Amino acid sequence: MNSSLYSVNAVVSYILERIPTLATETIPLASCLNRVLAVPVISPIDVPQFTSSSVDGYAIRHGDLEHGQTFQVLDEVVAGQVSTTPLTQGTAIRIMTGAPLPDGADTVIPVEDTNQTWHIAPEVLSNDRIQVINKTTSKGANIRPKGENIQQGQHVIQANTRLLPQHIGVCASMGMAHLTVYCRPLVAIFSTGDELVELGNPLQLGQIYDSNLYMLAALVEQIGGQVKNIGVAQDSFESTLTSFQEALRCNPVAIITTAGVSVGARDFVKAVVEQIGQLNIWKVDLRPGKPFAFGFIQGIPFFGLPGNPVSAMVTFHVFVRPYMLALQHLPHLSQSVEAIAGEDITSDGRRTYARVRLELKEDALYAYLTGTQSSGALLSMVLADGLLVIQEGKQQIHSGEKVHVQLLG
Ligand code: AMP
Ligand code: MG
Repeated sequence: MNSSLYSVNAVVSYILERIPTLATETIPLASCLNRVLAVPVISPIDVPQFTSSSVDGYAIRHGDLEHGQTFQVLDEVVAGQVSTTPLTQGTAIRIMTGAPLPDGADTVIPVEDTNQTWHIAPEVLSNDRIQVINKTTSKGANIRPKGENIQQGQHVIQANTRLLPQHIGVCASMGMAHLTVYCRPLVAIFSTGDELVELGNPLQLGQIYDSNLYMLAALVEQIGGQVKNIGVAQDSFESTLTSFQEALRCNPVAIITTAGVSVGARDFVKAVVEQIGQLNIWKVDLRPGKPFAFGFIQGIPFFGLPGNPVSAMVTFHVFVRPYMLALQHLPHLSQSVEAIAGEDITSDGRRTYARVRLELKEDALYAYLTGTQSSGALLSMVLADGLLVIQEGKQQIHSGEKVHVQLLG
């Protein structure tokens, strides 16, 4: 790759061909939310482990209903206990939801189908008699068989699954206290620019707050990474070099910088990378984000994002996001929806990512620009549901044309 403007697709492919391997770790289940499973989960037990009642009612032998609807209640079994009283013809055991089905019983009659009404914790009287008033209960009704949910040895969760609350719950139901997941990828980030001011300080004329550092850290964390915040490098070779050295010391899976990567006289990022590593890509055929740079320093991928906040976010979305997802063995294609352009949208022929909001009208989604598309106007991102992709070479999208919108998280 050495043409003057790289194509977006070629750069994404180039990055995805060079994904390092992430280490794994075994951690407590309670810490596993949003982590990515590295080893499939296979159930060590049947869930449930015993056959139980799924209602509050009376455990009986279904065949006894042929001899009459009256049953003598011998015992009671509540969740967490076991009844050892054998069922004989015409007898029943009062049973609560989740309690083990007594030996000999094959059906549970819900209390609502008997002449009984229960109050809070009434005694079971010996010689209590109940009458079944609804005979429609079929054999085996209201019973949860052992292993109904999961069987021992069953593959329950595939490797490379991002763990959601339902996965955590099902692992707990199998008694699994720990899971093996991929380590969270550590990303070192620093911004560059003499004009940047840390939050909490007043702005002097010519200064701006450092929004990119916060935004990029949030983007990395949102996608499952951990951030090593190196802070701000001044616009000098030495300061930029010092920040790179500090970033390298924490052995990250990537170094992300913002700004200082364009053609300005005070842009030092490329020069430093060329000295301590190699710069493989610079300047991509996209808008916003043309000055994007990519390379390696001591084998660690380097993503040089532009300084304009919208360009930084778009290039993160287009280049860093697929890298971070692939690294974690997650699908890296952007979720995109088909929509109809709600207005004319122009492009300069570069691959363009226009910020749009989506509106559902008469069963079709319509895409509208979120105001100014200046690469410095982060509000255009705040108002956006997604990025409308205009392919290379296309100068104009006409109102009413079908478009693809990549959804923002
Ligand atoms: P540069 O690529 O260094 O020329 O920066 C391009 C534009 O982005 C300039 O207007 C910078 O002031 C702005 N910029 C650079 N870094 C940041 C940052 N960390 N947060 C917000 N804006 C920035
Ligand atoms: Mg700068």
